[in-house]
Amino acid sequence: MPISPVIKIINPKEKKEKKRPFQAMSPESLDELQDTLKEGKKAAIFINRRGLATSVICQDCGFVPKCPYCDIPLGFHLPAKLVCHHCGYQIPMPNTCPSCHGYRLKPLGIGMERISEEIKKFINPLPQLNLIEGEMPDNEELKIFDKFNKGEIKILIGTEALLRPQLEQADLVIVASIDPLLFLPDYNSEEKIFFYLLRLRRIAKEKLIIQTLIPENKVFQYLIKHQEKKFFEEELKWRKSYLWPPFVQLIKLTFSHSDENKGNEMATIMRSKLDETISKIVPQDLQKNFNILGPAPAFTFKEKGVYKWNILIKYKYFESKIQKNIDPLLGLNLLSPLPTKNELNLRNKVLKSISFRNNWRIDIDPKDTL
Ligand SMILES: [Zn+2]
Ligand SMILES: [Zn+2]
Repeated sequence: MPISPVIKIINPKEKKEKKRPFQAMSPESLDELQDTLKEGKKAAIFINRRGLATSVICQDCGFVPKCPYCDIPLGFHLPAKLVCHHCGYQIPMPNTCPSCHGYRLKPLGIGMERISEEIKKFINPLPQLNLIEGEMPDNEELKIFDKFNKGEIKILIGTEALLRPQLEQADLVIVASIDPLLFLPDYNSEEKIFFYLLRLRRIAKEKLIIQTLIPENKVFQYLIKHQEKKFFEEELKWRKSYLWPPFVQLIKLTFSHSDENKGNEMATIMRSKLDETISKIVPQDLQKNFNILGPAPAFTFKEKGVYKWNILIKYKYFESKIQKNIDPLLGLNLLSPLPTKNELNLRNKVLKSISFRNNWRIDIDPKDTL
């Protein structure tokens, strides 16, 4: 068994000095990095790539605006508004933080270049430093991992690519940016991030530093205390009260259209059709098992001139039972039961009685709801 690293959480908002401009790497993280390098050791620095500038956070108090109906962070859209990607709820972007009334409600996220520039300015002498990200060819990536494992590269800055098994260990691991991922408006974001952190904790030989504006989040709290099982139990409770897998089967209907208004109108018509169909063909006592959300703009609302909307059906099991035993290595989705024949038939009957045209896509058990 490897020895667990020391875990240290740094909250940049705590040591706020008024005159200091925003820094992606906190002074304490830079000091720790300098100390590690002085001893001839090496460090890996993690930055999430997904979810950049998609939600907003108050840089004073850590508040993140959430949808009052779905309890999921609202996405930031231009012109300045906040939109729920599940049910379509929206509000104008507030000028001040609804929680502390401060003025620093800002889109989340920083990039690798920014981090590497700050390091180059501060660390002296600067050892071999490399960046690694998912889009690199495999052999390039392997070369970098190999050099880092051998100690030829001393600082490795990376996105999700750092989580690959080819990376053995680093004396110091700094999680420079993780908050945006935590607020990706998806029901299982916290679980995903928990898996990331477990992996990063395993990579860290001596010390794991996490920079976050929301240290009180259960993801960090359970990680520090090594209470993996408790994390999953609490997450499961939340999923139960807000009806997410494994308590429901998700059916994601995605609609694409090149005209924003027309597309929105057609997606709304589909929603009414669905409601109508369910009230007609589903036995009355089972109608409440179809919970429909949307249409709401998809997470990447406009792509190559095409707009996308999602309607999400949360289909609650009425016969099968969810598994009870949580395996912290595998997570919660494996607790989902296989639908029974009756459950399948009813679901398929509803979907088949609606004629979906070409620009609709049906995804059962989607890997995300974005
Ligand atoms: Zn909502
Ligand atoms: Zn605030």
